[in-house]
Amino acid sequence: MTLKSAMPSRQNLSRQIIDSCLAMNAHGINQGSAGNISVRFEDGFLITPSGMAYDNLRPEHIVFVNLDGTSPGALNPSSEWRMHRDIYANRADAGTVLHAHSIFATALSCLRIGMPAFHYMIAVAGGADIRCADYALFGTQALSDNMMVALHERRACLLGTHGMICFHDNLDKALWLGVEVETLAKQYWHARQAGEPVILDDQQMAEVLQQFRDYGKQPSQAQ
Ligand code: 13P
Ligand code: ZN
Repeated sequence: MTLKSAMPSRQNLSRQIIDSCLAMNAHGINQGSAGNISVRFEDGFLITPSGMAYDNLRPEHIVFVNLDGTSPGALNPSSEWRMHRDIYANRADAGTVLHAHSIFATALSCLRIGMPAFHYMIAVAGGADIRCADYALFGTQALSDNMMVALHERRACLLGTHGMICFHDNLDKALWLGVEVETLAKQYWHARQAGEPVILDDQQMAEVLQQFRDYGKQPSQAQ
């Protein structure tokens, strides 16, 4: 079997993108046509079209975009293709990018506050905090530039007065991370209502990150 035939087809990946969009809405982390999802594919990525309701999406509506930003299809890609492109161009470990306007992450982004290590699960994004990027107009290179600063050594960040974005190896993991980021935002929001959360220090977070290296690996997966 050649490497090419082992890769999922464009049709299959497009179907999986639509299923993930519907799952994103079912998980309550997005609504309407807000948000977008992409998957790395050949020399670029497949991404949801701009402004189309997920319920009406069919695989042929999913748009291919080259890493240089050109797109040969009839439909316009998501207006946020620059954020997706810049993640694929700069982060070799990104297989999927997910952007959503989930309620609590967006509420924090409107306050322009990121999340410190108020809970050890903050480590799911790769470090001791989840930053909030400076505000810029949606659909612009400025927004993507601000995002890349906030994503330094992280897999997720908030976007000032907008929402959140995250990336992971594949669609399932990106959806999982998106739900985790929203859950953390909800927990942080509630904790801040009741008082001032105690923040784990750098040593404690270093221990968490170390502990996560083997977390969830069953004996058959041990290396
Ligand atoms: P698109 O419909 O163009 O993907 O835009 C949605 C969005 O969230 C813009 O920030
Ligand atoms: Zn958006």
